[in-house]
Amino acid sequence: MPYSNWHRGSDGILKRGEILPAIDCPTRYEIYYPNDSEACPYIAPVSRNPHSHPNPKPSKTPALVRGILEELLVILGWKLVDATPQRLNLDSGFIAGLRRILEWNSARNPTLADLHPSLANYDHARRIIMECRKTLYPHGTGLEGVKQLYTEHSQGPPELAYVRAVESHEIPREGSCKTVLCMLPAMSRLLMATWRISINTPFKRVHKWQEFEIKPWFPSYNRSIVISQAIIASQSEEVT
Ligand SMILES: [Zn+2]
Repeated sequence: MPYSNWHRGSDGILKRGEILPAIDCPTRYEIYYPNDSEACPYIAPVSRNPHSHPNPKPSKTPALVRGILEELLVILGWKLVDATPQRLNLDSGFIAGLRRILEWNSARNPTLADLHPSLANYDHARRIIMECRKTLYPHGTGLEGVKQLYTEHSQGPPELAYVRAVESHEIPREGSCKTVLCMLPAMSRLLMATWRISINTPFKRVHKWQEFEIKPWFPSYNRSIVISQAIIASQSEEVT
């Protein structure tokens, strides 16, 4: 049967759903009314033929389930920054959390919809993720959020200052280039003590930003140590 209900999109705006033309469902209802409703205050609805479609999915997530989902989202840490329902269903850490909570034994991985059918609606799940992100990162997860971290780190204990620089540079003919440098003072000291520097660039943890790590080899420790993480965004492909 066609029906229309209220639906909140991922932008948080409540809109009435569209009434769709009747789909090809053979179910018919016959409703029998009593001739004398005083003597017999009942009606008898009779449904004939099976439905050709599944039941409509519940559109609300119970508070208890939402709480469980929020806990799993918090455990994601930095991955919450660009989490989407699709990515969550592919994230091994998130899936491991779901398996534990649902006491899931099947070889098939559980999905958000197995936590609650309402979460099969990606708009709805996306909105919960967005609200959780807003609570954890009130200054956003973009450059403004990083600037806030920089301010916090520069006011805290100097040895724990990790975000060391957030800068914007205008490069002639190339456009603007933003850089974020993350490096604890202990890492700076290691950098000063090394002669051979190698730079790894395969990281793509932040959408539209390029990330690289400086990881020199220290013969005295017989291992490479990450001494700096830098993130840059540039309008030009040539600036790396
Ligand atoms: Zn039907």
